[in-house]
Amino acid sequence: MLLGLSKIIDCPGGEIPFETTLDLSEMRFGGCCPLNEPVRAVGRVRNTAGVLLLTGEIDTNLNGVCDRCCKPFRRAFHLPVEVVLVKKLESEQLSDPWIFELQDDQADLDDIFTTAVVLNMDSQLLCDPACKGLCPRCGKDLNDGPCDCKPERDPRLQVLEKLLNK
Ligand SMILES: [Zn+2]
Ligand SMILES: [Zn+2]
Repeated sequence: MLLGLSKIIDCPGGEIPFETTLDLSEMRFGGCCPLNEPVRAVGRVRNTAGVLLLTGEIDTNLNGVCDRCCKPFRRAFHLPVEVVLVKKLESEQLSDPWIFELQDDQADLDDIFTTAVVLNMDSQLLCDPACKGLCPRCGKDLNDGPCDCKPERDPRLQVLEKLLNK
């Protein structure tokens, strides 16, 4: 969605609300596309003392397979977004991913929110950030409770112990 901002570009204090639905179902993370439900983005663009500030948030669900416990999961995904919009990017702003250039006084909301999701997505896809994962030795799902394996000893410590025992 392109959001026209010509009404507020030269009007400090002016603001334009927006609400749109994005399709990010093709966006890949690892081997899957976890954003396969409609993604709702709501917010507003406000001219704050001449600076165009977009604030909004994304709401959807993640569907995927957990990288740690290997179980399929579905959980809420919520992301606040805040970016600055400028008529023309200055060279020192090129490296700032949170500054976007307007095209014909319009903000490209798809581009802005897609970029925000990419920049905020964790490198691992987890059913829960606190997922305990599987035991590397017996394969038990540690979210269901501890397994009977003894804690792995650090091989460097074993070398040290051998030396000390001599
Ligand atoms: Zn998990
Ligand atoms: Zn185990």
